[in-house]
Amino acid sequence: HVRPELDRMAEYIPGESQEAFSARTGIPVDQLIKLNANESPYGPAPQVVAALGNHFAYNNYPDTDSRALKKALAEYTGVDSHHIVVSHGSNELINLLWHIFLSVGDNVICCPPTFSLYTFITTFCGAYVLEVPRAEDYEIDVDAITKALTPETKMIVLCSPNNPTGNPVSEQDILALLDTGRIVMVDEAYTEFSDKPQGLAHLVPQHRNLIVMRTFSKWAGLAGLRIGYGIFPEWIVSYMRRAQCPFEVNMAGHIAAIETLKNLDYTLNNVRLLKEERERMFKMLASRSYFCPIPSQGNFILAEVDTEEVKIERIKQAVEQRGVMLRYFNHPYLSNFMRLTVGRPEHTDIIADALDSLDKER
Ligand code: PMP
Repeated sequence: HVRPELDRMAEYIPGESQEAFSARTGIPVDQLIKLNANESPYGPAPQVVAALGNHFAYNNYPDTDSRALKKALAEYTGVDSHHIVVSHGSNELINLLWHIFLSVGDNVICCPPTFSLYTFITTFCGAYVLEVPRAEDYEIDVDAITKALTPETKMIVLCSPNNPTGNPVSEQDILALLDTGRIVMVDEAYTEFSDKPQGLAHLVPQHRNLIVMRTFSKWAGLAGLRIGYGIFPEWIVSYMRRAQCPFEVNMAGHIAAIETLKNLDYTLNNVRLLKEERERMFKMLASRSYFCPIPSQGNFILAEVDTEEVKIERIKQAVEQRGVMLRYFNHPYLSNFMRLTVGRPEHTDIIADALDSLDKER
């Protein structure tokens, strides 16, 4: 018999892969514009690619303590390296952290709509999510969170800027939640695209219960290599190290992350281009009467669709004909919403063209 909580779980289904989309639509993979998983259209710096190709030590295991990468991350984040844990994508950190703190019957607080992996891993631990929905403006409700706490609440889970709504959590709200004494986890996967790219990492050394998670998947264009890291109070670092298998971050991941941090100007310039494009995409969406886009500090925009005016299915068909992959949500917290990853200017133009063709038919 398997553990009973597994029977309450379904497989985690991320945004469709290019291969699956291609099989479904008949459009070749090399003609697709993948804007459904918040990846970077620019990829890593050429120096990263060169360093990966020049390296000959893939026969050896990587440094399981990630000394060189943690040193570079300490410089990048301004937080001492003994607060840092490097991981196989930030997904791995979430998985480890949840297993460290959650026993069967415990709960975590999440503020939907948000990244659904938190709920998925919670179920895997035999624990429960207490949902404290966001307000109309998608801000978290600190009072409601505080009231929802139970003796079994082990963690308050926040995402800033939030996927998929794109708004950040204020430092003031985080400080108020830290006073509850619960572990407060802030997922900063998209912080480089925000108005405060340095995020909340600097607060971690002063608090026993604050955790910040980061990734190279989005801003650094390295989603395929799976490199994440977290900034933890030292006492939690010690447990994370016990929970993690050796060599989870592979040699290529180390090389790519270190080289990215050595060539920050290149990568941060791409972040700047994406932020500019985000504002252009926002205007393009807002100019159509059936879209209500939400201002975003991530590399994506969530937009509500007025389905009285246009069916989402028609929008989907128009963009998919042009090879554009987007994310569509239809659940109680997000009914009739689309999330568009910000790509290159020409990608926005193709979406605009698809929408123009729809507008002409109406
Ligand atoms: N956190 C958030 C909020 C995300 O959106 C994602 C990617 N979808 C992740 C974490 C996972 O990132 P990684 O590639 O580092 O596992």
